[in-house]
Amino acid sequence: MTSPSAGPTAGWSPSSWKSKPIQQKAVYTDQKAVEKSLAKLNHLPPLVPTAEIDKLKEKLRKVAIGDAFLLQGGDCAELFDYCTQDGIESKMKLLLQMSLILIWGSHKPIVRIARMAGQYAKPRSSPMEIVDGKEIPSFRGDILNGFKTDERDLDPSRLVDAYFHSAATLNFVRGSISTGFADLHRPLDWGLGHVRDPELQLKYSSTVDAIADNLDFLRATGHNTGSQELSTVDLFTSHEALLLDYEQSLTRASKLLKSGEQAYYDTSAHFIWVGDRTRQVDGAHIEFLRGIKNPIGVKVGPTTSSSDLLVLLRTLNPNVEVGKITLITRYGASKVGTLLLEHIKIVEGSEYARSVVWQCDPMHGNTRSTSSGIKTRQFADILSELQQSFLIHKREGSYLGGVHLEMTGDAVTECTGGSVGLEDDDLSLNYTSFCDPRLNEKQSVELAFLIAGHLKQ
Ligand code: PEP
Ligand code: MN
Repeated sequence: MTSPSAGPTAGWSPSSWKSKPIQQKAVYTDQKAVEKSLAKLNHLPPLVPTAEIDKLKEKLRKVAIGDAFLLQGGDCAELFDYCTQDGIESKMKLLLQMSLILIWGSHKPIVRIARMAGQYAKPRSSPMEIVDGKEIPSFRGDILNGFKTDERDLDPSRLVDAYFHSAATLNFVRGSISTGFADLHRPLDWGLGHVRDPELQLKYSSTVDAIADNLDFLRATGHNTGSQELSTVDLFTSHEALLLDYEQSLTRASKLLKSGEQAYYDTSAHFIWVGDRTRQVDGAHIEFLRGIKNPIGVKVGPTTSSSDLLVLLRTLNPNVEVGKITLITRYGASKVGTLLLEHIKIVEGSEYARSVVWQCDPMHGNTRSTSSGIKTRQFADILSELQQSFLIHKREGSYLGGVHLEMTGDAVTECTGGSVGLEDDDLSLNYTSFCDPRLNEKQSVELAFLIAGHLKQ
């Protein structure tokens, strides 16, 4: 047992969240089995070393001050079954390709964070759902229960399974990167054949040519051996810190700070965020997050009041550390115009001016259902929220430092529009998400081209 700390995190301990009201609570029937799983997690080594968490913090500091750009993306709900060579490689390749386009557009380093190796817990709007006329518990992510209808009871052994699937994913990512997967000198297959609009085709392919030329130039001038940034790539991991029992079990006391305070890190991932449904200022999730050193994301949406936003910043980042908090804004294309402006004014007019990372999540405010009840998002709405966000930040003198996307390297048909021209009727062709609809590889790369266009301005 650890004792509550002094200093800015007074009264905090890794378990102090338990005395606060909690949303999306996990109620198990076999508490003994839960305790056994949590004890096991507590005993296992960190999934990520604290030094890497500090390294990401330093990079996010650069994003906050406008010297770098953040690309974060991956599945809405990662499944244990996605832990395969192909699954992991296709996500790494997509992040890499998109970041090359963004480097070209921004002339800045790109910080890459995957929603991967731990994105296993999902908040749900309803705890129950009707399937084939029967009411059963909703799927809450592989760390809690299974998608199959006979696996909906919460299973405590999944807590430990989540750790090992994260570990296997991370192991493969690290191995791939250290043996040259991310070697940017290898030719990349851009597959632009689907872009039928001749003007867009020309625009995208000339960007690809420019990127290839730049890489050739660097190689010819001998940068291929010495440049760390070009031969290896940092890839950080992230997930929503929803299941606090799990997060607490992977939280470790690290060094003593100069103030005499003990530093705690949540070693389940480099970056964790609090979702739109669990960010109550006096709730359990914020209580847990305020005590850890990791960089933290906060989803900010139409229901976030300006006063709550300031309370959240003051609670999570009392020392005003630059880059500590990423505000992940997700309002929807029709609301961003008024709401983002209001939030920028309140943050940039406070002691937090120029200290947060502003990141646009153009996915979660733009979800709609088709007439046949399929959850989808339109590429045009996603792009519109992004474009409006860029313009509003520019006008206000703040820096839109990143994007947060739900995407996959697979050829899924979950979002409509884009140059692939998917329509509502195409959605059933390859809809494989177990939660929210993701951009497929081509839609994601196209969005990167469009973002790069904005960064260039
Ligand atoms: C998510 O990122 O998958 C999610 C549930 O987002 P939000 O909390 O913003 O709704
Ligand atoms: Mn989602």
